[in-house]
Amino acid sequence: MNMIDVTVPLLDLKAQYATIRHEIEPAVQEVLETQIFIGGPKVAALESRCAEYLGMPHAVGCSNGSDAIILALDALGIGPGDEVIVPTFTFFSTAGSVSRVGATPIFADIDPATYQIDPASIRAALAARPEGAVKAIIPVHLFGQACDLDAIMAIAREHDLKVIEDAAQAIGTEDVHGRRVGSVGDLGTYSFFPSKNLGGYGDGGLCATNDAEIAERMQRFRNHGMKPKYFHHDVGLNSRLDALQAAILLVKIEHLDAWSDARQANARFYDAAFAAAGAATSAVSLDEGGLPLRTPQPAAAGARHIYNQYVIRVPSAQRDEIRRILTEAKIGTEIYYPRCLHQQDCYRELGRRFGYQAGAFPHSERAAGEVIAIPIYPEVTEAQQQHVVDTLLAAVRS
Ligand SMILES: *Cc1c(COP(=O)(O)O)cnc(C)c1O
Repeated sequence: MNMIDVTVPLLDLKAQYATIRHEIEPAVQEVLETQIFIGGPKVAALESRCAEYLGMPHAVGCSNGSDAIILALDALGIGPGDEVIVPTFTFFSTAGSVSRVGATPIFADIDPATYQIDPASIRAALAARPEGAVKAIIPVHLFGQACDLDAIMAIAREHDLKVIEDAAQAIGTEDVHGRRVGSVGDLGTYSFFPSKNLGGYGDGGLCATNDAEIAERMQRFRNHGMKPKYFHHDVGLNSRLDALQAAILLVKIEHLDAWSDARQANARFYDAAFAAAGAATSAVSLDEGGLPLRTPQPAAAGARHIYNQYVIRVPSAQRDEIRRILTEAKIGTEIYYPRCLHQQDCYRELGRRFGYQAGAFPHSERAAGEVIAIPIYPEVTEAQQQHVVDTLLAAVRS
């Protein structure tokens, strides 16, 4: 085979910037001329644009997606002594934010086909805790795909639990009923970290809700619990969104649907190319043989998957070597996530308390050993994708 000289980074923000530079630069310039950097009209405009986009009346900007979860927990009155169910296969801050408010994360496993929190595992976690100890669930819409909100909301109603949807990777994702995620539970939290589908040029985050009272509390908490100025209702934090980020995000949000459509088209390209080579989806375990590569489960009918990541599975014993071959071919990859949260050093004490030994969450632990994210960003070209496909197929067959 010919060595083609194609570089394919995991994410190419420079390629995206080249397409919107002419809109970004005047927007930034405008903020510089006003010298209003904290709050102000740009932040207010972004909040109302996000509320409209997400289909909720209230959106509250904050410093990052991790703080968004902290503000949500604070606004729902969750703190020391309370327990919150989270998936063990997610980015750290889903659980870290629970710990930061003094509450205790209780882990649940995932569905191996979709990587989303498994409702049956939520029920098992609840059954193992004293009645009333668990106050909330934080389902994560991982990789841009909706989790099973019907089942999760049914559990929440039965046990009187709050639901915070961690939609950091899922702005604009819709579930099987066409509901934008974040709007189904008590509130949704979002991140504008640069690698998310709607990324700023720095940190940023947002909470959105249908509930006016929750929104008001979050507005207060993000600014030292202060209302009016210098009078403090609660001990809040400094977690404000800044005007430069808001101005940039106001430009970018108008492109978001086109970018998400492009990601979907790129996913279809990979799905078709790998299926033609004999790859099954991750609904089929690697134990069942065939080509040792699994593609992501496509979104269920009616749902909208925005592909923040396109995550394949390969046998864990081959993963390092496959990544090495991809790196050599100048293809960027990442492991989201190599270690489950119940196995992190900082949660060793929790593990002892709740018996989270190795094997406690088999589907999550297995995924942590098998997954690889490959380039899916909107600007990736067909030639670049073909290079990824050819290189990967050669690697898994070798
Ligand atoms: C990125 C992310 C967060 C945190 O967002 P930051 O803005 O980086 O703090 C939380 N949860 C998930 C699932 C994420 O992917």
